[in-house]
Amino acid sequence: MSKEKTTERDSGEISSILSDFSQFYIMLLLSEGPIHGYGIMRAFKNRTGKGLSAGTLYPFLQTLESRGLVSKCDKATGNRPKIEYSLSKKGESFTKRLFRRFAAITASALEPTLETCASCGARVYGGAHYEEIDGIKLGFCCIHCAKAYKNDLHIEHDHERVK
Ligand SMILES: [Zn+2]
Repeated sequence: MSKEKTTERDSGEISSILSDFSQFYIMLLLSEGPIHGYGIMRAFKNRTGKGLSAGTLYPFLQTLESRGLVSKCDKATGNRPKIEYSLSKKGESFTKRLFRRFAAITASALEPTLETCASCGARVYGGAHYEEIDGIKLGFCCIHCAKAYKNDLHIEHDHERVK
């Protein structure tokens, strides 16, 4: 089996798993500001590569509305109604809690992609600064930490020399 086929199948499976996050995506899109139902469906398609049916979206929006998390506003242009949905204050604090929970869950998924700064111990997500020091490739959160690390190293070397 070619590597490309595996990648293609994997990407299909990833899309399928992520599309089950439909309610989460809808909350995420609502958190970005007022949006129409059509806008949600379009953004959902753009981000997940999968369509979101009106039959999934509108009942969910209705549930959110009945719980006081979302409010509807008619931004009609001409005689065509254009319903915009936006989070209420209650909805905003609800999504904050939702995102915190999600962050806690995904923290373990992100863990392997994190690099630890060799100087300050901070966890770096992507874009670590690498330097080869004494033949060892080390990751840092920034060039300043790399510099501080090298300075400390030189001080230690000096101490050794003094001893
Ligand atoms: Zn650092």
